[in-house]
Amino acid sequence: MTSTLSSPAAASGDTVRTLHHWSGGQRLDGASGRFSDVTDPATGAVTARLPLASAEETAVVIETAKAAFPAWRDTSLAKRTQILFRFRELLNAHAGELAEIITSEHGKVVSDAAGEVARGQEVVEFACGIAHLMKGSATENASTRVDVHSIRQPLGVVGIISPFNFPVMVPMWFFPVAIATGNTVVLKPSEKVPTAALRIAELWAEAGLPDGVFNVVNGDKTAVDTVLTHPDIASVSFVGSTPIAQYVYETGTAHGKRVQALGGAKNHMVVLPDADLDLAADQAINAGFGSAGERCMAISALVAVGDIADTLVGKIADRARALRTGDGRRGCDMGPLVTDAARERVSGYIDAGVGSGATLVVDGREGEFDADGSGFFVGPTLFDHVSTEASIYTDEIFGPVLSVVRVDTYDEAVDLVNSSPYGNGTALFTNDGGAARRFQNEVEVGMIGINVPVPVPMAYYSFGGWKNSLFGDTHAHGTEGVHFFTRGKVVTTRWLDPSHAGVNLGFPTNA
Ligand code: NAD
Repeated sequence: MTSTLSSPAAASGDTVRTLHHWSGGQRLDGASGRFSDVTDPATGAVTARLPLASAEETAVVIETAKAAFPAWRDTSLAKRTQILFRFRELLNAHAGELAEIITSEHGKVVSDAAGEVARGQEVVEFACGIAHLMKGSATENASTRVDVHSIRQPLGVVGIISPFNFPVMVPMWFFPVAIATGNTVVLKPSEKVPTAALRIAELWAEAGLPDGVFNVVNGDKTAVDTVLTHPDIASVSFVGSTPIAQYVYETGTAHGKRVQALGGAKNHMVVLPDADLDLAADQAINAGFGSAGERCMAISALVAVGDIADTLVGKIADRARALRTGDGRRGCDMGPLVTDAARERVSGYIDAGVGSGATLVVDGREGEFDADGSGFFVGPTLFDHVSTEASIYTDEIFGPVLSVVRVDTYDEAVDLVNSSPYGNGTALFTNDGGAARRFQNEVEVGMIGINVPVPVPMAYYSFGGWKNSLFGDTHAHGTEGVHFFTRGKVVTTRWLDPSHAGVNLGFPTNA
């Protein structure tokens, strides 16, 4: 199928495309008259105009998804699985194209974008096993000649609202499982990076997904609020910053919806004195500056325990200075930030870090960037001797700024991790198995890496943080994802038998 969406050429700034929504298996032009600009962060060029849906347009898309639900929920698991397999093959065929779309709107380097697509595809592969995952249980003769079995059924129309930093992977934490379990989907992507979702909608259509099962509504708060309050939306899966996650959770649940709202993060990497310091330095670079620090699992605080700090900071600084920052299509190590506002925000934090008295070891505001135009660049930035009162330590910066905090003991390090209001990810670097075991037991964080800096779980486990990093009870994908997108029923069955006991108004008990 040929796409009307971006090709790398179209994304290079030569033409400004007008994008659309996707509803009922086809593109739906925006009618609100409101638009936002989509930019190429490496050049600063506007590449597309995105229609922002009105409440009425959003409701029309929801009604389309509602109309598609009865037939999809009754479609056999065998047929649903075949479509998922076809979608998976199309992802394989178009992985490179999707990665280039991501880079053209988010800015991350193409190899990183390809990794994102691969991690999203893992959830599709997990969902291909839905026939097994949907199996209930059965008990014969729970009471005399009475059998019991449990089943799980889809919810209906489910809303997914995603952030800018993973245009493919984050929506794919949810929609493969939602669709496989028999729901229909309304996805509201981030207005900064909308094209990947629209291309994915085309691939679903090519895979044979019935019209109306997967829909995309583009927009801002107006569209989100409509999804959160519309009576025909059964659940909301949200990923974004903590204040919006909390708002989404409170508004969605107040309107009777099942909500999982994943929020922001401030992830610590603790390095013990016995760790391999070269490994720790390499991984601090990967986790601190990969995707320009715009990952919810990025490491932004490195806690150096004992007398290793001088050596470790030296090793990280050498590696940071060697990184090449520029256009993600040019083989650079690190790309730009997503918008000019993000660049200014991160620069402001660097100024504040200097003001707080921290030592600025590597300044990302300086230096050459390998790109044409006026991209939104900040290079890798490293602070040492950071106070836990400084905003570069307390706030989620979401940029390539790594803060080193020095402590004397393991206990001080764990206290720091546990006193954070966030609890998304954390990592410990050590060669001491006993310390690692204690750490995983003691830290109040949802995802933990031992000598692994970005411990994003495989699709058959579930992704999610604790505290202000997740509002709601259920994490994404894995068996928790299957549970989120289904409701349980228990059926108690007795087939008439000539020896039935007649009328009995007492409460049923086992006999
Ligand atoms: P964001 O909160 O600004 O936006 C997320 C979504 O909410 C977007 O679709 C946006 O259109 C919508 N939105 C924005 N403002 C809104 C408002 N006032 N009312 C209703 N909806 C609104 O987040 P972002 O900047 O796109 O993404 C970065 C954030 O996401 C970071 O905080 C990052 O940590 C977080 N994130 C968390 C995870 C996780 O798994 N916990 C994963 C990825 C990103």
